[in-house]
Amino acid sequence: PSAMAIAAEIVIAELTQNGHEAYWVGGCIRDELLGRPVHDMDITTSALPEEVIAIFARSVPTGLAHGTVTVIQDGCGFEVTTYRTESGYVDHRRPEHVFFVNDVKEDLRRRDFTINAICCGLNGELIDPFEGEKDLQLQVIRCVGDAEERFDEDALRMLRCIRFASVLDFSIAKNTWRGLMRQRDKLAHIAVERVRAELDRIVEGPHPLRGLGMLARCELLARGKAPFPWTGTDMAAAAALTAGIGELESARLRWALLLHALKQSAQEADVLLRAWTFSGTTRSGVVQVLRVREAWTAAIEAMPPGTGSMEGLRRQWIAAVLVFGVEAAEGWLSLLAILPAVAPTLPAAASSAFSVVESTEASTTPAAVNVQAAREWIAQMPLTSLSELEITGNELVEALDKRPGPWLGKMLNGLLQAVASGDLPNDKQLLLLEAKRMDRHER
Ligand code: ATP
Ligand code: MG
Repeated sequence: PSAMAIAAEIVIAELTQNGHEAYWVGGCIRDELLGRPVHDMDITTSALPEEVIAIFARSVPTGLAHGTVTVIQDGCGFEVTTYRTESGYVDHRRPEHVFFVNDVKEDLRRRDFTINAICCGLNGELIDPFEGEKDLQLQVIRCVGDAEERFDEDALRMLRCIRFASVLDFSIAKNTWRGLMRQRDKLAHIAVERVRAELDRIVEGPHPLRGLGMLARCELLARGKAPFPWTGTDMAAAAALTAGIGELESARLRWALLLHALKQSAQEADVLLRAWTFSGTTRSGVVQVLRVREAWTAAIEAMPPGTGSMEGLRRQWIAAVLVFGVEAAEGWLSLLAILPAVAPTLPAAASSAFSVVESTEASTTPAAVNVQAAREWIAQMPLTSLSELEITGNELVEALDKRPGPWLGKMLNGLLQAVASGDLPNDKQLLLLEAKRMDRHER
C-alpha cells in the first residue's frame, strides 16, 4: 500500500476507535477497483465536523457548512466529510440545505453515479447499495436514482457524466442518457469555469474522441453560458478532422485542432477562448498555432505553378517561423501530420514535394512528406529569433550614423530573414556590410 493509503488507514482507524464509522469513498474506491492510479482519498464518516476536529491534531475546516474537514496525517491531506444528504437545489447547481445523517447509505444516495457511490472500510468490505461494482464491470456510467432528477438538481453532473465516460472509455446507461437529453438546457445555469474544467479533462484525457462524440450528439455545449460551437451541421467534417486528436501530446495542440476543425480563424479562436476563461498562456499558445496555419495556407495558395516555387514556399515558411515562433510553427506541423490531407487545389510542384493528394477526393493519407520538409526547413535555420542575430540595433545605428526610426526594425528583420534563410552567415562584419548595402539601396 502507498504512503497515502497507510495514512488514510490511520485516520479511519482513529475515527473508528473513537466510536464513529468511517470509510474510504468515491473516486478512490472506483479507481482502485479499476486498477487505475489513485490521486487522492476521500473519507466519509458518521462523526460530526467538530468531533473530527477534536480527534485530530492537525485539521483544517475547509468546508464546514458541507461537513468537510481536511485532516492532515503524515503529510497527506484527507477530506473527511460527515454523512449528509442535500435538498432544495438552487439554480440547478447547489443544495440549499445540507443535513447530517446517521446512515452511510443515505450519504451514498446523494452521490452522482453508481461507480462513485461505493465505500469501503478497514475490513476491506465494500458497501455498494447501488451496484456500482457491477457497473464498473459493465463499464457504464449510471446515475444513482432517477437520472432526470439528478441532472435537474445539479446540471454540472451532465458534464461529469460525459467526462467519466470519456476518461474511462465507458458507455452511458440508457436512462441516464435520456435524463441528460431532457435536462440539457439546464447547463445554462453552470459557471463557464466549471464547464471548462470538465471539458479540459475530456480533451486532455486518454479518449477525447469518445467525449467529443457524445458532446456532439447531445448538443450540450451549445446550451452553456458561453456556447462552444461543437454542434450543428458540419459535425461530420469536424469529426473527420479531429480523428487523430488523441495522438497530440499537449492540451494546447488538442484545443488548436478542435478550433481548426470548427473553422475558427485565429481571431475568432481568441474571442472564444477568452469567453471560455482560458488562461492567457493557453489562449495565446493556441492562437499562435492558428496564426501559423493562416500564414501556411496563404503561402501555399500564393504559390505559382512550376518547380521553382518550392524555394518561395520555404522562404515564406521561414518568415512565418520568425514571426510566430518555433513552438507555434512546430505545433501546426504536428496538427498537419495528423490531419487528413485534403488540399486539392495545390499547384503541381507543391503537390509532389509536399505529397498532398491531387485528386479532389478526401484522402486519409497524412501529409507526412509535407510536414517532413517543413520540419527540415526549421531544423536548417541557423537562428530563429532576433536575439540570436550577431548584430544589435544599437550597433546598426552607430555604424550607419543614422537616427533610430522605422528603418531600423525593417533592416533588422531583413537581416534576420536573410540569415534564417541561409543567404547570409550570422557574422557581424558581413551583417554590417549587408546593412550598408541595404541602406544605400534604400536611398
Ligand atoms: P476525480 O477526483 O478523479 O475527478 P472523484 O470521483 O473523486 O473523481 P470528485 O469531484 O473529487 O470526483 O468528487 C468526490 C466524490 O463526491 C465523487 O466520487 C462523488 O461521489 C461525489 N460528487 C462529486 N461531485 C458531485 C456532484 N456534482 N453530485 C453528486 N455527487 C458528487
Ligand atoms: Mg476526487
